[in-house]
Amino acid sequence: MLMVEPMPHELAAGHQGRIRWVNGCLDDRDLLRLITHELVARGFDPIGKSRLAQLALMSEMDISEYARKHSMLGVVPVATMDGGTAIYGPGGTNRDSKRPGMSCSINSVAFCCHECIKDDFQKVGYSWYRRFHHVLGAQWCVAHDCKLLMVDARRPFDSPPQRWLQLNKLVPIKTVVDVLPQAGFLRRYIHISFALLERGSPFILDAIRGALARQAFEIGLRPTLYGRRPTLLSDHLSAQTEDAWLRAHIANWETKKPFEYFSKIDGVLVQGKKPWGSHGYVMAMAALYDTAEDAMQYVSLADSIFKVVSRSRSTEYWQNEVERRWVSCQEFADSIAKKLNVNGMRVAEALLYLGLPNMHSPEPSGTWAAVIRFLYGEKIATACIVEKVERGEVRALLRICCGNVLRTISTLRKEFVRRFDRAQTGTRRLVYFDP
Ligand SMILES: [Zn+2]
Repeated sequence: MLMVEPMPHELAAGHQGRIRWVNGCLDDRDLLRLITHELVARGFDPIGKSRLAQLALMSEMDISEYARKHSMLGVVPVATMDGGTAIYGPGGTNRDSKRPGMSCSINSVAFCCHECIKDDFQKVGYSWYRRFHHVLGAQWCVAHDCKLLMVDARRPFDSPPQRWLQLNKLVPIKTVVDVLPQAGFLRRYIHISFALLERGSPFILDAIRGALARQAFEIGLRPTLYGRRPTLLSDHLSAQTEDAWLRAHIANWETKKPFEYFSKIDGVLVQGKKPWGSHGYVMAMAALYDTAEDAMQYVSLADSIFKVVSRSRSTEYWQNEVERRWVSCQEFADSIAKKLNVNGMRVAEALLYLGLPNMHSPEPSGTWAAVIRFLYGEKIATACIVEKVERGEVRALLRICCGNVLRTISTLRKEFVRRFDRAQTGTRRLVYFDP
């Protein structure tokens, strides 16, 4: 068998097609025989392995590394429940085989770029299919800022792109946006997709959801099913790019009404909702952050913290111990770290993950004092009168306040003491939790 190394960013389906082409296989059974024979000759058992795993073995690569460099698994799935890469494993297959480039099956669609073909041909004498040309909704070659071409053939990967060019079988794809804008949502969407392809492992579902929901709130959106803020992620998204592009890539987008919850997009932020298609997460990342780099950085950071916290000790440990120390350590992370005998950075990460604010300032605002009273069992109206704050401010704080903070305050409310009384001291009352 003639060895065929995968080219940089070559799509697995295209790599398989070149193996077939270079070795002159007559049909799919011939290709299967060739792969099986080669793997057995190298001492592997090809039975039960996905085609992706077989191609990785043929390329003398680890399956995860092959998947990271030559599959679309970085964008499907973007997130899994545990952030695991089991789908990359030996038996792993790509379940979403209908999407471009997602399957090694022959009956798929293939895209290429005229300029890339010319460049490849000049450099190495042949061209190959790039996975960057197969991201859903990315209808342009970013390297050459031109529209992609589609192979007009039933089995496009059977032949390399230059052959289809010679046969005049490359047709411009129908796009709703002819030129990729230099900046803005679409370019962010594409750059985030590329970064995800390179990343190599999915995000933990709760981590990406939490990061996106926090960012949505930060920029004034409503990240929940119900609430007073009118603007949802789906409204924000609709303002960022052509409606035709959204209709083309989001099922039933034409039914979206202004300020009405649209589950396929807004559900990305809502806990308890099942994850929708992966590109909903990519669209949310592109819509919520100013740059693709920011999106990747903040979501990756949230994911790392989630993993560090959950792996170093049990979640219960951090929730119980750190929360308890949090209320007693007004010197913040370093004091907590000393008491727990762990690294200060680890505590800072845990606090960030748990959503607990800095307790360095011992004097809470009147609004905070009212929230604490409310959690202590008083009615909001009474708490507001006592603390001389507006009800709306308290409600707003309750809405934005992380559930962990509220739960911690509630859990420890018996330890809540009044050190001073406003009536007696004439100053704002100091409230804190007594260690
Ligand atoms: Zn190109």
